Amino acid sequence: MDCIFCKIIAGEIPSTKVYEDGQIIAFRDIAPVAPVHVLVIPKAHIESVAGITGDHAGLMGHIWTKIPEIAKAEGLNQFRIVTNTGADANQTVNHLHFHIVGGRKLATAFG
Ligand code: 5GP
Ligand code: ZN
Repeated sequence: MDCIFCKIIAGEIPSTKVYEDGQIIAFRDIAPVAPVHVLVIPKAHIESVAGITGDHAGLMGHIWTKIPEIAKAEGLNQFRIVTNTGADANQTVNHLHFHIVGGRKLATAFG
């Protein structure tokens, strides 16, 4: 499958990983918009939030318990989670990912 993030999971494209377990990885965004900018992704290829089903309930619970742990490990207790879903929301990689962004004061932005 021609998916950048599946290639990162497979180790075919290098990345700076900050967390990995059997179900997810977290790695630094190649174009950070803040001092901390980490992407948390499931190892399973799910296109976006729009592709989540009941089969993913356990995985989603796992991701959402790991996100605050990863943020804390990055030194953050104040941060933003962003999940662009579809082209209109400017999703550019069609493999579900949660941006953890923080380390500076962020603008309010729902453009
Ligand atoms: P989206 O625009 O889909 O919400 O987010 C995709 C993110 O993936 C962007 O912030 C972009 O900088 C990041 N990205 C794209 N290609 C790569 C890559 O090869 N490595 C890493 N680490 N990040 C990438
Ligand atoms: Zn993928």
